[in-house]
Amino acid sequence: MRSLPAAVLVGGRALADLVLPRICGGCGVPGAVLCGSCRRLLTRPRLAQPRRHPPGFPPTVAAGAYAGPVRPAVLAFKEHGRAELAGPLGTALALAVAAVLDGLPEPRGRPGPVLLVPVPSSAAAVRHRGRDHVRELADVASAELRAAGVPARTARLLGRVSGRRVRDSAGLDVLERRANLAGRFRALPPRTALPQGSRLVLVDDVVTSGATLTEAARALRAAPDVSCPRADTPVLAAVVAATPRRVRQPLPVTGPGAFTVRG
Ligand SMILES: [Zn+2]
Repeated sequence: MRSLPAAVLVGGRALADLVLPRICGGCGVPGAVLCGSCRRLLTRPRLAQPRRHPPGFPPTVAAGAYAGPVRPAVLAFKEHGRAELAGPLGTALALAVAAVLDGLPEPRGRPGPVLLVPVPSSAAAVRHRGRDHVRELADVASAELRAAGVPARTARLLGRVSGRRVRDSAGLDVLERRANLAGRFRALPPRTALPQGSRLVLVDDVVTSGATLTEAARALRAAPDVSCPRADTPVLAAVVAATPRRVRQPLPVTGPGAFTVRG
């Protein structure tokens, strides 16, 4: 069977939205794209703490835990074509961005723009899904932040290095994931020079081992347009949800403002 063009698939999804009853992407109750109680699970920003904190892992805030109804909601958005979940999940991402920015020291002078840098999916994944779901989240989050008075916009500053196959990371430990991803991303030159005082926030849907964000941050920090002449441009990260660590005792509560980013 010939594969359908992405526009037809997207149109089909929009039609399905009209015809099918709307149910919560998290818990399945009818009525809303994401019900109130599932939304509330994504209003609990926390510092992501991967089990084996990879060196170079950027300060990262998640809007909630990747557990319970949050998992099916993210998967419905990412893998099952429920693009309308970009609204509530993008709003959650905006909250995480705002929280991670709280950890920065007070800027000297006027703060620059907040640039949301989507972690790029592979070309094959974008073709398969017919859309770039992280870019959609970044666009919603940017709009939410602007509505709240934060000068934010989506900036495509990262691409994938083509011609290099990456294994599916499922089942790999953190060191294997890092090796698998090394050299995977490349910085794209910004359309215009980054304004003074720019703050870069990598955005992604979920963080688990931290390997992807670490590699993305490394590529961004190494980019001449980012690191020179302003080596102090901070690189932070925000995600919708973080895979919780399996610990018996809850970790001491550390608010997102409890860390300091050094340039
Ligand atoms: Zn729900």
